Amino acid sequence: MYENIIADRMSRLGTESAFAILARANELEAAGMSMIHLEVGQPDFKTPRHIIEAAYRAMNDGLTGYTPAPGLPALREAIAEYASAHKRIKTDMKEVVVVPGGKPIMFFAMLALIQAGDEVLYPNPGFPIYESVINFCGGRAVPVPLLSENDFKPDLRLLENSINEKTKLMIINNPSNPTGKLFNREEIEGIAAILRRHPQLMVLSDEIYDRIVFGEEKPVSLASYPDLKDRVIILDGFSKSYAMTGWRIGFGIMHEELAAHVAQLMVNSNSCTAAFTQAAALEALKGPQDGVDEMCRAFLERRDWLIPALNDIDGISCCMPDGAFYAFPSIAGFDIKAKDFCMRLMEEAGVAAAWGSSFGSFGEGCIRLSFANSLENIKKAADRLAAFTRSLKRKA
Ligand code: PLP
Repeated sequence: MYENIIADRMSRLGTESAFAILARANELEAAGMSMIHLEVGQPDFKTPRHIIEAAYRAMNDGLTGYTPAPGLPALREAIAEYASAHKRIKTDMKEVVVVPGGKPIMFFAMLALIQAGDEVLYPNPGFPIYESVINFCGGRAVPVPLLSENDFKPDLRLLENSINEKTKLMIINNPSNPTGKLFNREEIEGIAAILRRHPQLMVLSDEIYDRIVFGEEKPVSLASYPDLKDRVIILDGFSKSYAMTGWRIGFGIMHEELAAHVAQLMVNSNSCTAAFTQAAALEALKGPQDGVDEMCRAFLERRDWLIPALNDIDGISCCMPDGAFYAFPSIAGFDIKAKDFCMRLMEEAGVAAAWGSSFGSFGEGCIRLSFANSLENIKKAADRLAAFTRSLKRKA
């Protein structure tokens, strides 16, 4: 009955397959199957206790009403201080907007910037909501392929060749979901040089995983270059670094003129982010940071076990992720599409994983395994995966 009622724009919205895979995996589990969940992108840790206590305290103290749309001044100030120190950018609270999660920054920034026909460069494979929102806003989504043979790094010549007078925005995600790769300083400088040659181009820099890195090299934010800073919109939040996915709190840092538009979109959609959640986020930034360190150590231990184990499986190859908590192995050695591989792996072997093409067409041939699960479960999952692949036909 609704097919003639729903607005056309809804047909342009995509989705995140990980949620659908989770739903199916839960169904199989409810029917009695043993399932190891490597599909969802959320830390398997509890939010640190001191953050939870801060939320209780805030609620008890009556912080339960509306706040200003762009967030509590104390939190915006703390975010500006944090970003100045951690991301090495010069900013202040006027450039900070607090929103319910990292995703709304994606949505609001593109709603505020993209007109019909504008082109947007986005990483492919990449977080699926980029492509979805670009299309929803009437933009043209132009993929920047991240290929396994290129170590999932962008080909900067190809990237620059994709820019024309209609290109309005470039999205980068560092470290990357789903590949786990980090663009190093040299690669970021290459992108910075491209931006200088194309002064009309804005950047959405998704830095939501920038606290979860395994090597000495830390992610460099494009906003740390003073001449580029006003063209960069930083997307970040508390979901991943502080195991707060369900709290729904994130933030954007952008030129104050754009920040005012994003705040207006907040007034029109959410009014504000929950007040006590903002108090918890303030504690996350100001309180002890050992929860973040502990999580990173656990992810590192799991990565160091999982990647060699994947490479030991005939027909699978996986490069070493530098950050986030995802492995993105190639299964291209088998004569099967990544989606069918994942569906059968889940239904027959009890391991839930996301297929690479759900992160964009260039992700075909790979699957995403989240190592936000215990080492014990990861070891079991690797055994199940190895046994499952023995039943598959190899490509000639
Ligand atoms: N950006 C990337 C690359 C992500 O992987 C995610 C979540 O998985 C988000 C943004 C959204 O984060 P949030 O849950 O805070 O909205």
